[in-house]
Amino acid sequence: METLKIKAGKEKQPLRHHPWVFSGALEKTEASSGPVRVETSDGRFMAYGLWDPESHIPLRLVSWNEGDRIDDAFFKGLVEASVRRRENFFRDLSSTDVFRIIHSDADMLSGVVADVYSTFVRVIISSRQAWAIRGLIVSALQDFLHPSWIILNTDPSYCGAERLSEAVEYYKHGKKTAAPPAFEPIVITENGIKYELIPGTGQKSGFYCDQRENRLRIEAYAKDREVLDACCYTGGFTLHSLRAGAKHVDSVDSSDDALHMLRRNAFINFGEAAANRLRTSKSNVFEHMRTVERNRYDLMILDPPKLAQTKGQVENALRAYKDLNRLAMEKIAPGGIIATFSCSGSVDRETFRRVIAWAAKDANAEVQILETLSQAKDHPIRLSFPESEYLKGFVLRIIK
Ligand code: SAH
Repeated sequence: METLKIKAGKEKQPLRHHPWVFSGALEKTEASSGPVRVETSDGRFMAYGLWDPESHIPLRLVSWNEGDRIDDAFFKGLVEASVRRRENFFRDLSSTDVFRIIHSDADMLSGVVADVYSTFVRVIISSRQAWAIRGLIVSALQDFLHPSWIILNTDPSYCGAERLSEAVEYYKHGKKTAAPPAFEPIVITENGIKYELIPGTGQKSGFYCDQRENRLRIEAYAKDREVLDACCYTGGFTLHSLRAGAKHVDSVDSSDDALHMLRRNAFINFGEAAANRLRTSKSNVFEHMRTVERNRYDLMILDPPKLAQTKGQVENALRAYKDLNRLAMEKIAPGGIIATFSCSGSVDRETFRRVIAWAAKDANAEVQILETLSQAKDHPIRLSFPESEYLKGFVLRIIK
């Protein structure tokens, strides 16, 4: 195994188990792609990593234990450990059968996300190093979970930076096969609510299971309320609100396909009757907020997409979060509840809270924080990798 050395002065982060090392931190950058031994500048063992000079994060540390052997069994072991950490989910698949089984660096597998959807597994690869070991990952997932299908694809938003091509692979009972003509829709269940989805399609990985626990928290506020579900996608918060006995739910999204799926999901769960309490509108959430009359809603859910994709976009994103929250505070009925979220990794919780305070000031509203929300626990936050905390939310009460 080849050895790479970290420069003196650049050792603090990797010694704290942060897994990402950039070329500037290395004394030399010549080594062949694959597992490498990583040493401090004075030649002591620090870690093992996966090296690929073509990756925008060329060295990804995988172990700080000198006794480990970085072979096929090691990587299969990481997958197995990640699966075992979710054992609780397998105890009751009747109320929830969709969850994340590998959460990238937070589960020690940089660039690998894997979600279970009933009998399907979707794997999304966002690093060259992960692409190189995908065969091991797929076969380990097959061994431990026995899914009928594994669908694996590269994440288009990282293909440029990682010099990976946009690729999809299909594995039926563990064997790689050609693309099937089309999948039939399947029904998955979360918190006892059913959703139809077509495997391999849809945004991100097809369903946002990071909001599972928050959907239940918000359900507790929804009885007899006039609800706005802004950026509703396929209806997570809408369906929970309907189940709780909301008077009406207005579900707003810019995607027609998402709204179509949402109406289908409402029908599957609550039949024709749900239609009287549900209105879907395809519109821009900012536009909807600007034009809707005041006091129409007393519960609003704001779950916009990642507004800051990169660090460079943070400033504009903060302004957008501020405007959205200000408009909500201006329009909501006195005493109303706003559940507001940000899933931008580059906007940290403190910053998001400051943005909410800025919105409150501009809306001239008094605001109480009732609850502080985060991502579901199958999307763990690794302490040595702060980037793994990305979903932040607050339940606010607006006093006027
Ligand atoms: N709340 C959802 C997840 C939201 S994902 C759930 O519980 O599943 C973000 C959603 O915002 C996506 O469905 C996307 O189509 C929608 N979206 C993106 N930009 C938008 C805009 N400007 N106005 C309205 N919806 C938007």
